[in-house]
Amino acid sequence: MQTWFCDLSPNSSKSFFGVMGRRPVVFSSQRSGMSVSAVSQSLILLLSASAVIAGFSPEEGDQVNRFQQYLRIRTAHPNPDYAGAVSFLSVQAVSIGLQTLTLEFSPGKPLLLLSWHGSDPSLSSILLNSHLDSVPAEPSRWIHPPFSAYRDADGRIFARGAQDDKCIAIQYLEALRNLKARRFSPLRSIHLSFVPDEEIGGADGNEKFVASGHFRDLKVGFVLDEGQASLTEEFRVFYADRLPWSLIVNAAGAPGHGSKMYDGSAMENLMECMEAVARFRDSQFDLVKAGVRAGSEVISLNPVYMRAGTSTSKGFVMNMQPSEAEVGFDLRLPPAEDLDVLRKRIEEEWAPTSRNMTHQLIQKGPNRDIAGLPLVTPTNASNPWWTVFEQAISASGGKLRKPEILSSTTDARFMRQMGIPTLGFSPMTDTPILLHDDNEFLKDTTFLNGIKVYENVISSLSSFRTAT
Ligand SMILES: [Zn+2]
Repeated sequence: MQTWFCDLSPNSSKSFFGVMGRRPVVFSSQRSGMSVSAVSQSLILLLSASAVIAGFSPEEGDQVNRFQQYLRIRTAHPNPDYAGAVSFLSVQAVSIGLQTLTLEFSPGKPLLLLSWHGSDPSLSSILLNSHLDSVPAEPSRWIHPPFSAYRDADGRIFARGAQDDKCIAIQYLEALRNLKARRFSPLRSIHLSFVPDEEIGGADGNEKFVASGHFRDLKVGFVLDEGQASLTEEFRVFYADRLPWSLIVNAAGAPGHGSKMYDGSAMENLMECMEAVARFRDSQFDLVKAGVRAGSEVISLNPVYMRAGTSTSKGFVMNMQPSEAEVGFDLRLPPAEDLDVLRKRIEEEWAPTSRNMTHQLIQKGPNRDIAGLPLVTPTNASNPWWTVFEQAISASGGKLRKPEILSSTTDARFMRQMGIPTLGFSPMTDTPILLHDDNEFLKDTTFLNGIKVYENVISSLSSFRTAT
């Protein structure tokens, strides 16, 4: 693993490179985006950037402009420009006066860590996390190119990552910039992590980060990570992710002529599996349809592929029953689900060996935390961080919806795995949910309001004295 350091005091009159010259800097222009020339060029760009937007103050115009600049960096898989993103964010951090450290747990996959040290180092810190990468976009399906960050007459900024999750990255930074300008002084240290590979599972990103000594040294007491847009005026907040599993069932059976009726063919065995799964799926989906549970509070189970038949260059052989058949399911579980009950159900009902079936259960990521508990952050008085967070949202004039389980999966699970309370929160109200979708956008006013929300949230959390 390689590291790069850069420390700049907030009101330093020394040049960026002058200060860096005093430090044990290990820079590599080949392996990281933190090359001196890249930072220098970006710094010049940053200092010369000034955006005038009608209806906004010069500061707000600059904030929108910096958001657009970050959105224009092509961070989509399969070849995310991590070097460009880290370079841009590092320049922002330096201009704010944050300490920067670039870690690299896997070659070519930098993780940027920024710090603002609190006045009481005996207290645990807060961590604000976001991911550097984005999912791909199909330009032909977009009304504006996905990396143009085009801002239309209504203030909608179109870009891949506008909601997921480059908005929070810049909002965190701009909130800290404003707090610094107000001469705010945090009691607890505030750390920001910008991690690679969240969109492809986080194995080379946050999973390695939370297991590292660097993470341990931060003494993190509470984490904010990404959430999702809200269609209403209420903010959404997520206290858990569902567990992402995959199930592959393979059925075997005697092959035979297509015309012959007999018991125990591979296809018949596989159909038994499909029928059992369909009954269970209905029982879960009925709870959602009846309004008894939210979609993220049930086990979802969807077939994603089937493979069977005897194929030739002209298609499938139609008069032969095959000896093997396979089906794959995407399986998502609420975090507190009894996992042994489900495993038993798979073994006894869905894929019993007595019917010539075998199965493979792929459990991606952790199921329980280091104490063996579900990966759930309490959202009641038992969690003092929750109370502070909730009050800060109210103080900024916002309202919170009932806390939810996220249907999909984020890097928050790795922090929860360490037993650290972690909330998923992206301040986007009255906004269509467009993550991973075509024409993803965020309105400029929504983006700017989010900065104010974070100012309240970050100042409250970092001033909070009594939690450990
Ligand atoms: Zn995301």
